[in-house]
Amino acid sequence: MTDRKANMPASADIVLANPRGFCAGVDRAIIIVEQALEKFGAPIYVRNEVVHNKFVVDGLRAKGTIFVKHLDEIPSGSTVIFSAHGVSKAVRVEAEARGLIAYDATCPLVTKVHIEVAKMRLAGLEIIMIGHKGHPEVEGTMGQVESEQGDGDEAAASGMYLVETPDDVAQLKVKDPAKLAFVTQTTLSMDDAALVIAALKTKYPNIHAPKSEDICYATQNRQDAVKLMAQDCDLVIIVGSPNSSNSNRLREVAQRQGVEAYMVDNASYLQPSWLVGKKKVGVSAGASAPEILVKEVIGQLQRMGAQQVQELHGVVESVVFQLPKNLTSAPSKKA
Ligand code: SF4
Repeated sequence: MTDRKANMPASADIVLANPRGFCAGVDRAIIIVEQALEKFGAPIYVRNEVVHNKFVVDGLRAKGTIFVKHLDEIPSGSTVIFSAHGVSKAVRVEAEARGLIAYDATCPLVTKVHIEVAKMRLAGLEIIMIGHKGHPEVEGTMGQVESEQGDGDEAAASGMYLVETPDDVAQLKVKDPAKLAFVTQTTLSMDDAALVIAALKTKYPNIHAPKSEDICYATQNRQDAVKLMAQDCDLVIIVGSPNSSNSNRLREVAQRQGVEAYMVDNASYLQPSWLVGKKKVGVSAGASAPEILVKEVIGQLQRMGAQQVQELHGVVESVVFQLPKNLTSAPSKKA
């Protein structure tokens, strides 16, 4: 006979990290798509997922947004929006050549890194980017430099190299170690990035650092908040989609505090067994996850036996980014 009581989750309290969820760049990107739909009518095309969250993307799709991987999927004369992660220079050129009307939802903090890259190249420096291979932000930032004719080594031809780990740094070969700079993806783990930067500085003592931190305020604040919250929890749930870099980093931050941690796209992914024997469940959300999903997760945890909800104090964020002028000033095509 099964011992039913042993399988019942023990009652736990819920602690909410602060800040959590939407950042200013994600807010802005979603508003850009919504305004474009409102002004020009459906369909509006978006290159890549505008932000990495299934709920947000499904919601915009239901309103008439078509998400594409490549610009050749879009009919000429259509409206296209570049995602919050940014695009390479080649994508901008291609959009123009295809007669697309482009609006840019690139987060201004990603654009800041693009500008840094341009300045560094102008100063004759080769650049090492710390980031995750295949992530759209990395493709966009690496694509800010033009390749020169070379010997077939793509990185050496563009003067830009990608590294993810201290091991990658050990393997790296550059043209001139005295003329080097680095930039980072905006959503990296602060702790992982610090290790890679330390390896770079050891190998290349004269390497130029970016003027200010590339890992953005939202990433830093959410990681700090989860670190603080996890110290007092025995289970951490991060709300975020599997392709969200900063959500994955939040789960890792909790795990590194020695706490059992899971990332869920929504409440339906919660497993009652996770709560068994737990006293405090910490909840946070990646920068692309809406608060409604956090509320649903709390509701589901309570149905599974969790009790009181306590919200932690945290940094108050007041960052707001302006919308692109070419969008706000564009006349509405809807009657
Ligand atoms: S996580 Fe940071 S860089 Fe990315 S959209 Fe938000 S504010 Fe911008």
